Amino acid sequence: MLEGLVMNDYPLTIQHILDRMRRQSGDAQVISLRPDGTKTRARYRDCAERIDRLCGGLAALGVKEGDRVGTFAWNSQEHLETYFAVPCMGAVLHTINLRLFPEQIAYIINHAADRVIFVDDSLVPALEAVVEDLTTVEHFVLIGDGSAGTLPNVVRYEDLLTGNEPFVYPAIDERQAAGLCYTSGTTGNPKGVLYSHRSNVLHSLAECLHDSLDIRAGDRVLPVVPMFHANAWGLPYACGLVGASLVMPGRFLQPEPIARLIEEERVTIAGAVPTIWMDLLAYADEHKPDFSSLRVVPCGGAAVPLTLMQGFEERHGVTMVQCWGMTEMSPLGSCAREPAGVVGPERWDYRATAGKLAPLVDARIIDDSGAELPWDGVSPGELQVRGPWVASRYYESPSEDHLDGSWLRTGDVAAITADGYVKITDRAKDVIKSGGEWISSVDLENEIMAHPDVLEAAVICMPDDRWTERPLACVVRRPGTNTTPADLREHLLPRVAKFWVPESFAFIDGVPKTSVGKFDKKALRARLDDGTLTVSVAGPATT
Ligand code: ADP
Repeated sequence: MLEGLVMNDYPLTIQHILDRMRRQSGDAQVISLRPDGTKTRARYRDCAERIDRLCGGLAALGVKEGDRVGTFAWNSQEHLETYFAVPCMGAVLHTINLRLFPEQIAYIINHAADRVIFVDDSLVPALEAVVEDLTTVEHFVLIGDGSAGTLPNVVRYEDLLTGNEPFVYPAIDERQAAGLCYTSGTTGNPKGVLYSHRSNVLHSLAECLHDSLDIRAGDRVLPVVPMFHANAWGLPYACGLVGASLVMPGRFLQPEPIARLIEEERVTIAGAVPTIWMDLLAYADEHKPDFSSLRVVPCGGAAVPLTLMQGFEERHGVTMVQCWGMTEMSPLGSCAREPAGVVGPERWDYRATAGKLAPLVDARIIDDSGAELPWDGVSPGELQVRGPWVASRYYESPSEDHLDGSWLRTGDVAAITADGYVKITDRAKDVIKSGGEWISSVDLENEIMAHPDVLEAAVICMPDDRWTERPLACVVRRPGTNTTPADLREHLLPRVAKFWVPESFAFIDGVPKTSVGKFDKKALRARLDDGTLTVSVAGPATT
């Protein structure tokens, strides 16, 4: 009735973010740590002009609207430029996880039907290994001065930027596909998630909110999380939107270069999965780098141990904020900040959760019978979500197993408190049901890692004649310590329900990690099954 009289139907597109980088925050910078250890700096204004030329180069290669363009690259200025050029010219940016197995790399490139792939010169060998199996790629664009090896039809990145007609940006529908990212494939083949222009813009706005990542103009943001892992958590687009500078670490994801980048570039926000921060905390305890510039350290992708957050805050004055999300959610789902006015130790009750849902994201908890559970903080069930940056289906996949009507089934088991804090207890596939009762491997790991001699702990499920399933704690001890199963049980008894306390422990050298740096419980379960995990049993269950 009043339709024609409401606000502009203004399209939410990445072109708008690019325009802001050019005109509103031209002096913000992208700083890239290069393979030889030097750093380069470029202003957003100059990047925008290079992006215009890159669009022209892609058009000259024959890339058209809707075509998929892959990237096989570390975080860098060139990768950032590609992040903008591809969607702004109407094509779809496919960020390829370079740590996947060769068969999976070939699978996702063929499945996405990439026509062009941008590749860092240092990563050429990994593509050479699969090039024979690629069925759709017509051109490789080489980033860096190194060799393209035996890759065919190679254009150098800088050459692509020269000699083209000035590019005229097309009008873009905000619902058009902008990006494609495959989940890291912990079960079965990786599945593709298609982001739209609209989802990226709204997600960027949500990341900048004070109660989420709080990104502002003037921030200097270090995405340690790779640009092939859920779009580096959306940080490049969020920074572009508000005019925060980006500090790109390239392939240097180890504690020493990361600590140096933070110090030298006065980084204010840095994002990475917990395993990266665990290594950095151990490094920082020993070397005492200057972390005074850090304002917020968002951490997520896996449960964040409480001892990790407390270690950074108490010993280094760094505020770590736990976030929960998934590739299918662009990835931001929730962020854990304490409510206003909560101070002292009580704040950890909130900070240890996955936090409050981001605005525009809805959630519900569903039990085994399909009924919705109350938000009481103690009734766990399957966590389902919906919202403008939540995937509706997987790319070119007919299966609807991941959907419950319009809700996405996250595969996470969670409870939500009356005031909206999400508590993730497990991934559905990691759940331990002992004598009919659930044991949260996430909570148990947290408590084991609170032992001063424990570096890492991952709890997996073990078959048990009497209780059906029991937890097996796989523990990495600090060098020079010799904690026993009995010590760990004594440490756990006052902290968790008695029946949670494992009787079986396996002391290992390191928890295996997935391609995006998370604890790989599937690999641990395989070691348990094939008998290569040495299990020490402390005694019968006390239940
Ligand atoms: P993959 O499924 O391949 O590991 P994602 O990065 O999309 O790729 O992983 C999303 C999953 O990571 C979530 O479904 C959840 O199980 C886990 N996760 C992310 N953040 C947290 C968190 N803060 N606490 C517990 N689990 C988390």
